[in-house]
Amino acid sequence: MSEFSLIHTHFKHLTAPHQHTVLGIGDDCAISNIPPNSQLVSCVDTLVAGRHFVHETSPHAIAYKSVAVNLSDLASMGATPYAILVGLSLPKFMANDNFCQAFAEGLAAACTPFGIELIGGDTTSSPILTISVTALGFVPHGQAITRQGACVGDVVCVSGTVGLASLALHGILDDLHGDGHANRPPKSLPEKLRQAMQYPAPQVALGRQLIGFANSMIDISDGLGQDLGHILTASNVGAVIDLDAIPSDALLDALPHAQKWQHQINGGDDYQLCLTMTKANFKQFNQSYPNSIFAIGEIVAQQGLTLMNHHQKVDLTVQGWEHF
Ligand code: ADP
Ligand code: MG
Repeated sequence: MSEFSLIHTHFKHLTAPHQHTVLGIGDDCAISNIPPNSQLVSCVDTLVAGRHFVHETSPHAIAYKSVAVNLSDLASMGATPYAILVGLSLPKFMANDNFCQAFAEGLAAACTPFGIELIGGDTTSSPILTISVTALGFVPHGQAITRQGACVGDVVCVSGTVGLASLALHGILDDLHGDGHANRPPKSLPEKLRQAMQYPAPQVALGRQLIGFANSMIDISDGLGQDLGHILTASNVGAVIDLDAIPSDALLDALPHAQKWQHQINGGDDYQLCLTMTKANFKQFNQSYPNSIFAIGEIVAQQGLTLMNHHQKVDLTVQGWEHF
């Protein structure tokens, strides 16, 4: 199948045209209008087979997640996503209609709920399946929420449960490597865990609502401990976190404490938001948007991250995901 027919068949009319797009797929570049009083916010994330997802993952799930992780980055700045470009490097044996159709449907599943348009990309052959998605979004001028603004006294919040994606990954790896669960196929993973790992929901609406409320924000991709650490470093402050306050789940609560905390602090891939805001803003935000953010601790002057449980310090090494 030629590169051109592949693009034309599967990608050209995948998503609805967006009002900001002047020219989409088909020319050398896409052309877009930037809405008035807005700034362009952009990011790219690359997923490599065997590194970011196990080879057995369905093309639909791979495509969905490659978009979702980028939308999560946009959400963490308070930006509204507008469009994506997809760099697809695929082994020759995958360059067929079956793979491309499932892949395209996964892209659409991630884009359509947010009205995002696929405006371009690149398709090449490669020994290893690699997907690189660039996402574009807009934010009201000067209003983007960065990692830098955390202030002493701020409440530290997360937008939902953390730790389930990490729990799922461990389940899958155990299955694949026969780590004591050799007879359990990956399919037997509870549906909730499969969803958490393969179909994370980027917190796009919430990210936008937090503009004007949050002082700093990041999305949790590499682990709550490490990602909150980025806010602390960028803002020159520290934090005290109450481990029991982190939104959890019965599947995590069933584990011994030390294991549960490992998943919650050092496990990545949750794509919830971690943010800080003043206590006054926290109260006001909770009245406007009940049950959408959860206080887990406080920003303090003394640098570093302190983890507490029942008023006692917990000794847990923070080590998120590192590639090199
Ligand atoms: P060029 O050679 O000028 O870079 P291409 O032949 O690579 O152009 O791409 C032709 C058109 O198809 C471009 O508009 C490009 O953005 C789009 N395109 C290529 N691959 C993809 C893809 N995987 N998804 C979406 N659009 C794509
Ligand atoms: Mg060209």
